[in-house]
Amino acid sequence: MTEERALFIIFGGSGDLAQRKLYPALYGLYFQGRLAKHFAVIGTARRPWTDDHYHEVVKQSLVGAPGSAHQKTEFAEHFYYQSHDVTDAAHYVTLQKLASKLNLQYQLDGNRIFYMAMAPRFFATIAEHVKSEQLLSPDGYNRLIVEKPFGRDYASAKQLNDDISQAFSEEQIYRIDHYLGKEMVQDIMPLRFTNPFLENVWSNQFIDNIQITLAEDIGVEERAGYYETAGALRDMVQNHIFQIIAMLTMEKPSRYDATAIHEAKRAVLAAIKPYTPAQVHTNFVRGQYVGGDNLGLSYREEDNIAADSTVETYVAGRVDIDNDRWRGVPIYLRTGKKMPAKTSRIDIVFKPTKDNILPTTGNAPVRANVVTLIIEPDTGMHITLNGKEIGVSDAVSPFTLDHALDKDELAKAPEAYQRLLLNILEGNKLTFTHWDELAASWHFIDAVRNVWDNDKADGLAFYPSETMGPKQADELLSRDYRTWIWQG
Ligand code: NAD
Repeated sequence: MTEERALFIIFGGSGDLAQRKLYPALYGLYFQGRLAKHFAVIGTARRPWTDDHYHEVVKQSLVGAPGSAHQKTEFAEHFYYQSHDVTDAAHYVTLQKLASKLNLQYQLDGNRIFYMAMAPRFFATIAEHVKSEQLLSPDGYNRLIVEKPFGRDYASAKQLNDDISQAFSEEQIYRIDHYLGKEMVQDIMPLRFTNPFLENVWSNQFIDNIQITLAEDIGVEERAGYYETAGALRDMVQNHIFQIIAMLTMEKPSRYDATAIHEAKRAVLAAIKPYTPAQVHTNFVRGQYVGGDNLGLSYREEDNIAADSTVETYVAGRVDIDNDRWRGVPIYLRTGKKMPAKTSRIDIVFKPTKDNILPTTGNAPVRANVVTLIIEPDTGMHITLNGKEIGVSDAVSPFTLDHALDKDELAKAPEAYQRLLLNILEGNKLTFTHWDELAASWHFIDAVRNVWDNDKADGLAFYPSETMGPKQADELLSRDYRTWIWQG
């Protein structure tokens, strides 16, 4: 296993993301041997921590991880803490000195990975100082990792992109969408492009509709402050759902590389035309959860949520792609909090067989084939087919082929963040979002958002917690003579 060489500079090294996700992911790479002797991490944040204290924090974040206490201590000793106010230029000079020293000490070949694990309002200042205080390495590579949310509309996303582009080129920017690191989302390309029995029917000729569901059973939890400024449309649809749509519907990329894949994704996202206000009203539904006996608090009763908040905790919608492959195939999407179970799945519903000559029980229509990809909590897929009923009857009856990814193999597979960090170390941009993809999805989302912002409470539907959302989400399909495949 080859060892990667790099210095990580984590802005926000004392934060939740760093402790819950990044340190365990880096340790996972260390345990795998992909990081070994030649790596170092500088954590910067406001708190005045010592290196020793930082090592303890890092070790605490590894409780439950495999490996001995000795291994964890050795790993933590690669970490250096620098107390730093991102708005103070002098601190970047100190940071630059420490980075140069560690580069020599650990023989890092000048490779630097900058991780923005802080609120986006700081990104512009950081990028500006990284450039002016010459923190970019003249040798090796410089890579920047940016978390979601990437803007709150097209204008702010563009501003953010312009800000970070002062110091980093598109080639150097890795925008994380952790859904792209999930096993079944990564399985979409092999399924689509190496199985002729799927590849050849992947179009409006054979597919009737596509349904994407990202359901959460939890409420807003500790994210109230952020959620009140975001809502489900920004939090889940603009990024994760649009990335899934792109993976499902892009044309076959000309090559298996990031440039070709980004181009294919960009093209299909650009073919989704933003809605007019009237089309938004017809094609999108928003809801907010309401608690009650045994259902917990309503959204408006949660801590730090306005008592008259109109923020949506649920979105359902219909998206259409205006190109030859997909014209006429609605993509129905929904995501929400306080739904009955945590489930992320994609249902590809095929057109039913034409001119059926076979008997069915009670002369019912033959069921449509459905290919379902289960992203979580289980990981795998089902295909619903039709066969003969067992026994003397020759009636047609549906059955399901189930494929669950091997649980032991899955348990051994690295977490999404570990995989994404490895991709970054390897310079593999396949699982990150390109600016053009973001720009296209924001244009669409802005059109919906603007209508909702004008409507305020009008049109906000309330749904009881632990249900599948407001009835309007069912009507979105029933008016097209369709139903949601997953009923909770
Ligand atoms: P957090 O509030 O826990 O941490 C923020 C960090 O920034 C802290 O280390 C804090 O000390 C530091 N900081 C704040 N102001 C500073 C200043 N002026 N100078 C120097 N340091 C300063 O936030 P978080 O949850 O870790 O999130 C970080 C980023 O990652 C955010 O953009 C968030 O949206 C994104 N994100 C977080 C998660 C998660 O699971 N926590 C998931 C996805 C995306």
